[in-house]
Amino acid sequence: MQLPARILVIEDNLANMELMAYLLKAYGYDPLCAHDGRQGIELASSNPPDLVICDVHLPHVDGYGVVSFLKGHAGLRTIPVIAVTALAMVGDQEKLLEAGFDGYISKPIDPERFVPAIEQFLQRGRAGEQDGTPPSLSGEE
Ligand code: MN
Repeated sequence: MQLPARILVIEDNLANMELMAYLLKAYGYDPLCAHDGRQGIELASSNPPDLVICDVHLPHVDGYGVVSFLKGHAGLRTIPVIAVTALAMVGDQEKLLEAGFDGYISKPIDPERFVPAIEQFLQRGRAGEQDGTPPSLSGEE
């Protein structure tokens, strides 16, 4: 049986963190939790997760700093990074994607849709990794 994907959640708001961790656990994940950007970068670097869920406004290093670090490192840049943000202004989605986020989920968290939305990015991330594997030498396609 395949182990559940390893998900890192970076969020400084305790209520939001507890809700996201609760929902992920309900779906069988065992999320790693970081409460600021610096701790998130340390956890991601020491033990790269399969996906990162990242708040934008964070102490020490904000979400933009986190995504720019992760996307700037060869061993980490394939990890999908999903912004979780209350930003609602026109253009913010584009700004997040331009900064390197693979997608975003808006706050408040919708308990019914949160994990399924995350899982779509997980599948994309895994498909992307497969694209990067060397071609088979057996000649079978
Ligand atoms: Mn925050």
